[in-house]
Amino acid sequence: MTIPKFKKINIESYKPGKSGIKNNKNYIKLSANESSLGVSPNVRRIFNNKSLITNRYPDSKSKLLRKAISKEFKCDFNKIICGAGSDEIIQMVCQLYLNKNDEVILPEFSFLMYRIYSKIVGAKVKFSQENNFKISIENIIKKVTRKTKIVFLANPNNPTGTYLNKFELIKLRKKLNKKILLVVDDAYHEYNLNKDYVSGLNLFKRSKNVFILRTFSKIYGLASLRIGWGYGDKKIIDALYKIKPPFNVNFIAEKCATIAISDKVFVRKSIRHNLLWGNKIKKLFEDYKVSSSKLASNFLLLNFKNCEISAKLFMSKLLNNRIIVRGMEEYKIKNSLRLSIGNSSENKYLVKVVKKIFKNV
Ligand SMILES: *Cc1c(COP(=O)(O)O)cnc(C)c1O
Repeated sequence: MTIPKFKKINIESYKPGKSGIKNNKNYIKLSANESSLGVSPNVRRIFNNKSLITNRYPDSKSKLLRKAISKEFKCDFNKIICGAGSDEIIQMVCQLYLNKNDEVILPEFSFLMYRIYSKIVGAKVKFSQENNFKISIENIIKKVTRKTKIVFLANPNNPTGTYLNKFELIKLRKKLNKKILLVVDDAYHEYNLNKDYVSGLNLFKRSKNVFILRTFSKIYGLASLRIGWGYGDKKIIDALYKIKPPFNVNFIAEKCATIAISDKVFVRKSIRHNLLWGNKIKKLFEDYKVSSSKLASNFLLLNFKNCEISAKLFMSKLLNNRIIVRGMEEYKIKNSLRLSIGNSSENKYLVKVVKKIFKNV
């Protein structure tokens, strides 16, 4: 039988971090930067509600959630679009902006979905080099050609954990041709308490050539429901609504996200927890000559360059102790691994295991 011929897809598909251990339910997953404290108890209550409606289609424009977003983040309701994860927003932006042979600039060590969706629509991906794992504005500018349509960056960046400060971001926008869309992904902004940092949304709310990405997958703890949002000029948003699958955001996701936004106590608690444990774990690793950059998110990129054992060996020893972290092979970062900050009991166990591993090398 003949299979009708389809397009050649020359792309490495996204491989999520290891999410379990065979025949062992009792593992600790610190590989995907998920919310360490779970989800707001108010959201949890939704699932006990017996009258949840599932036979009706959801609101295709997620108006309830967009109202809550515009109120909480003091931004324009009409400039918000919701997606099945910020993932889907990235896909729609690529569909809207990129033709075959257009160019996109991404930092070399960046979230893999930017390159995947850019390539799917036939664009050419150009990588800018980071400077000691920090995004280099100069290097991004160097890669610009007449074909450049979009620059994507996450701030703080995943997987490096570094960030551009307010002045650097403004400088980048200034130096970049006005016709190029700058996409700033705020996925981890809540965790970045450094004084010189401002989120993309707060910096570029009124900008016509900056597009902001936000997610409910991280601090709000809704990763499995797939929900995120984009913010940009009304004209961009209106065009995106034409591309958007009509019922991309399901009713339960919208409802949970709306409740999650209103629980500021939970968000504050998560931020405090992350600050406390993030710095504690960072210092612990420094005792063993494993370095990481200043805490700016809910994960650490641990560099084993000066350590007596390799990241790979250390990772296998963690796994022997039921702890899963993210290897950096796919990202092509040498001798490093990415560790998400867990809940208190997970972190306490991690500290014990780390000490034990280093005692025995
Ligand atoms: C985790 C993450 C996201 C979230 O993606 P969703 O599709 O919303 O789950 C977005 N951007 C970056 C850089 C991330 O690390």
